[in-house]
Amino acid sequence: MPELPEVETIRRQLAPHLEGRVLERLEIPDARWCAPVGPADLGEALQGRRIERLSRRGKYFIFELEDEVFLLVHLRMTGTLLLDCAPDTPYQRVIFTLDDGHVLRFCDPRRFGTGELALGAEALEAFFAGRLGIEPLGPELTGARLRALARGRRAPIKAFLLDQRHIAGVGNIYADEALFRARIHPLRPAGKLTVTQCAALAEAVQVTLAAGIDAGGSTIDDFRHPDGVSGSFQNEFLVHLRRGEPCHTCGTTVIKMVAAGRGTYVCESCQPRPRVRRRP
Ligand SMILES: [Zn+2]
Repeated sequence: MPELPEVETIRRQLAPHLEGRVLERLEIPDARWCAPVGPADLGEALQGRRIERLSRRGKYFIFELEDEVFLLVHLRMTGTLLLDCAPDTPYQRVIFTLDDGHVLRFCDPRRFGTGELALGAEALEAFFAGRLGIEPLGPELTGARLRALARGRRAPIKAFLLDQRHIAGVGNIYADEALFRARIHPLRPAGKLTVTQCAALAEAVQVTLAAGIDAGGSTIDDFRHPDGVSGSFQNEFLVHLRRGEPCHTCGTTVIKMVAAGRGTYVCESCQPRPRVRRRP
């Protein structure tokens, strides 16, 4: 599933091709993509408008069109945006034709990807207010802010990190990697992190996401860049997908467990398991 670094990688590649271009035609063969808005209505709102900017919030792409018309695109599990791919590429859900003849296609075998419309800056803000927390790459994510968000929460820190309403954009891969860097066990209750651990985790989230972006994202499952090239962050994983291999820091065998319902990789020497208090 694409996470923030994968989405940001795609955004950086697409932005120079999209920004300043007019969206001439929008075809949506799969109406589920934009439901409950119908494909014709969405086309009417967007066609003929210039794309002023392609930005990102969490794992959402924001197509910023003229007159504060915003298209919010989410890749979900298997969605991808391909520029000028072969016209018979399978699983095409949406086709954007630009005024310079280039064609962007949203392909998605599992069809969970979405496109949603926001009219006006207020609608855009309202859309994200209920869905996304702080943007991890900006100045907002500090140890103190993380501690304030986690205060009183008994959920494991891994579940806390995956909840987009706290921090936007962190998914399974980057949560495992950040927790390892911060030497925090994924099952530790979020509200029990110390000041030092919160500071370490805030930094680890930022370092991990930045490293992911530098590597062009991770290529596992179906992730591809708009030009079909793959990212390489999977070659730099410290613990994720490394079950049975020695920890790079201490040599202990990396194990796989379930946390927050997800396959989770951990070195239990570097990331000590929280002590369970037994009832008498
Ligand atoms: Zn270790």
